[in-house]
Amino acid sequence: MTPPPPALRVRSLRKSYGKVIAVDGLDLDVEPGECFGLLGPNGAGKTTTIEICEGLLQPDSGEAEILGRRWSTHTRELRERLGIALQETQLSEKLKVIETIQLFRSFYRRRGRAAEDVLALVQLQDKRDARVGTLSGGQKQRLALACALVGEPELLFLDEPTTGLDPQSRRQIWELIEALRSTGCTIVLTTHYMDEAQRLCDHVAVVDHGKVIALGTPRSLIDALGAAHTLEFASSDNHTIDVASLRKLDGVLGASEANNRYVLQVSELHLAFPALLGELNRQGIALSELHSHSATLEDVFVALTGRQLREA
Ligand code: ATP
Repeated sequence: MTPPPPALRVRSLRKSYGKVIAVDGLDLDVEPGECFGLLGPNGAGKTTTIEICEGLLQPDSGEAEILGRRWSTHTRELRERLGIALQETQLSEKLKVIETIQLFRSFYRRRGRAAEDVLALVQLQDKRDARVGTLSGGQKQRLALACALVGEPELLFLDEPTTGLDPQSRRQIWELIEALRSTGCTIVLTTHYMDEAQRLCDHVAVVDHGKVIALGTPRSLIDALGAAHTLEFASSDNHTIDVASLRKLDGVLGASEANNRYVLQVSELHLAFPALLGELNRQGIALSELHSHSATLEDVFVALTGRQLREA
């Protein structure tokens, strides 16, 4: 039996808007059944990439194969087999929740999931007859997901599924994505939340300035840092500290500074802590903040770019 084609295969993708290069020679491979994350700061080119894969935008050059098909030759088939939840879905505020799901269901030739089943899947049964305009942000996002799920998609694209949501709503969406993944649905999501990617994704591509700058499982990317911990600190009087002197400290593998906040990649916390305090003492610098945490994907981004993801 021949193996199924990759869920997504992107090669040398490029797209510019005037002088702005949004996607700059991007390659991606997504295997069937996995949850794949495109991560990066605002403006990295994630939405442009995903919208090309969704058939909503034309690239300037390069190729995108979706489920072994191309938009140019298999538009109708791909529309039936994909689910798409855009960054912002404009739904009719006056329609009821169930009517919205029924409307989206009517767009598909194959029967897909029953409207009531989709309603239960996204846990909006108690809002069945509510007008869309009365829903909270999290409920609207779950309804947008419901609309993407009515056709029982083989491949689901989610563009920033939890941006702007409160922690409880985020968790509900995460649980829903995990449940979908366990049914074998392939999921490609974009996010600038590293904790989201770390929790949900089998593989992630870190995108910056339209290029993939790192690719792997969240664990392998974090392990590749070689630094199990991160120490972050700031001085009380915004005193400038020599970053080169920090890099030489025991147990420290790397150091960077942005906006007077210092980040150290640390292999051995028990060595780095006293060494740092000794060095700050020697330089006569008082601390206003000091945190340590186990390394995360956010630290991978900082190590790769020298920038904090949130501020990039
Ligand atoms: P975000 O997380 O903010 O959605 P992103 O990684 O999805 O960011 P894109 O939305 O793909 O990034 O944008 C990439 C670059 O292309 C940005 O500099 C953006 O301003 C620019 N851009 C995107 N769409 C357009 C457009 N329609 N016209 C002009 N420039 C655009």
